[in-house]
Amino acid sequence: MTGGTEDEARQVITGIGVCPGTVVGPVVLMPEAIDEPAPGLRMGPREDHEAQARRVDAAAEQVAGDLQCAADAADGDARDVLEATAAMAADPTLAADARRRVLDEHLVPERAVWEAAEEVVRQFTELGGYFAERARDVADVRDRLVAALTDRPAPGVPEHTEPFVLVAYDLAPSATAALDPARVLAIVTDGAGPTSHTAIVANAKGIPAVVAATGASAALAPEDVVLVDGAAGTVVVHPSPEQVAAARARSQQVRTFDGTGRTRDGHRVQLLANVGDPAGAAAAAASGAEGVGLFRSEFCFLDREQPPTVEEQVAAYRTVFREFGGRKVVIRTLDSGADKPLHFLTVDDEENPALGVRGLRTAARWPELLEQQLDAIAQAAAAEEAEVWVMAPMVSTVGEAEWFVERCRAHGLDVAGVMVEVPSAALLSGPILARAAFASIGTNDLTQYTMAADRLLGSLAELSDPWQPAVLRLVEATCAGGAQQGRPVGVCGEAASQPVLAVVLVGLGVSSLSMTARAIPDVAALLREVDVDECRRLARLAVDAESAAQARAVVRENLPVLAELGL
Ligand code: PEP
Ligand code: MG
Repeated sequence: MTGGTEDEARQVITGIGVCPGTVVGPVVLMPEAIDEPAPGLRMGPREDHEAQARRVDAAAEQVAGDLQCAADAADGDARDVLEATAAMAADPTLAADARRRVLDEHLVPERAVWEAAEEVVRQFTELGGYFAERARDVADVRDRLVAALTDRPAPGVPEHTEPFVLVAYDLAPSATAALDPARVLAIVTDGAGPTSHTAIVANAKGIPAVVAATGASAALAPEDVVLVDGAAGTVVVHPSPEQVAAARARSQQVRTFDGTGRTRDGHRVQLLANVGDPAGAAAAAASGAEGVGLFRSEFCFLDREQPPTVEEQVAAYRTVFREFGGRKVVIRTLDSGADKPLHFLTVDDEENPALGVRGLRTAARWPELLEQQLDAIAQAAAAEEAEVWVMAPMVSTVGEAEWFVERCRAHGLDVAGVMVEVPSAALLSGPILARAAFASIGTNDLTQYTMAADRLLGSLAELSDPWQPAVLRLVEATCAGGAQQGRPVGVCGEAASQPVLAVVLVGLGVSSLSMTARAIPDVAALLREVDVDECRRLARLAVDAESAAQARAVVRENLPVLAELGL
């Protein structure tokens, strides 16, 4: 067999590439989450209760030891977190309560541990502040103890001696956020849509990722060597030496950005970065982004039992504004609910959270939260040199836009805009932009709501595609409203990071594109090869197409330069 034929015979798993990059490494499978053992699960009368109670101690010792070993092998924040969790596992109080429940109530050890831990979580949550923050660590120790007692792999990302490709059926955004790019070469998931927060977080961290790779976690075994192409969305199982060499050569090609986005004929398109936390801001500033087009302020609020104080928020926002002195930073007010649930806010009796109290609707329900956030933004902006713009997520009506702009003005924040993420806002962009200073199109949610396709579902990936002509028509309508009012319209959804789609968005009238900082050089390189009139012609072809596939294909066919640029 020739090399080529062998390559063709290799198994290739296909999904959707959401973060470019080509890597080769061994597979590590993410264990399944630990479920609550059934309530009232008790031992039979003949069971040796003393022996079962001793198993609790043995499990606690094992878990504490494993965590300490992991802490010894880690450094920085990860080491501190692991040491604190190991100390919690070694604390005799939890094990003693669980033992008592085994001996007195005859609960099976895993149920006894679960109930004992629930009691600690309840007490910590009631104490609030620092203790409430630790409630999550108790739940982590609980899950590890239950795993040890039921002979299952410990939850969370497994330890591995060398960097690896993490393969999971699904991965929560918080788990993705905790991944260390030095250890995790790439992520492959069966689930998660291309605009899910797992995909966005992977992209922000620069971890090549393929989502919606149906069947990957069943088809791959631990230590299988795979070649992951995060642009093409492919996973080659046991690649040939030639494929590995080619992949390594490709990953060494580096493109840079000179700091000014424009088309070949000089039409300006601001190229901005999406930022999720202070570390991301530092990386974005270092990459030369022209500013920040979407600062997701949720990082301050996620995984907390109580909202942050105004002082905490000021400090956090200042660290991001400081990185972009003299440059534009568009901060989005809190966008909670649906795919970004918050413990202290989310309404949990909604049947359709994506259509419920989320985004700006949360602010209408809890107005003091918005007031505090705007106060913090104003204080942080006054203390730093960045040019701060503020925008609200999930605006659906002219009235909401008017209310938000008015609240911003009351805090001295004069550049107040809206995100266009709901079709109603796109269609009403004229009157909305008569009130708001700018619009930024969130194509992730705009696609979700236009196509009625949950952005978290890998199985609906074909619908969750910003190339859908219906979505492009709404982008066009938003730009028309902006032009009518003389207001700028940008895009800050994941669509902006796809170079070919970026050309179409510019042709539709978008004047800034905000994306993960690492995508900027490729987008900039392609824009430099196309005149703005050509962008307009290509946009027309895409809008007039009858499907996402046709739109993508017709634009690509008309851009022969793509092959030269390797895009
Ligand atoms: C969007 O919806 O496109 C967007 C940028 O916001 P998020 O992804 O945070 O919902
Ligand atoms: Mg959104």
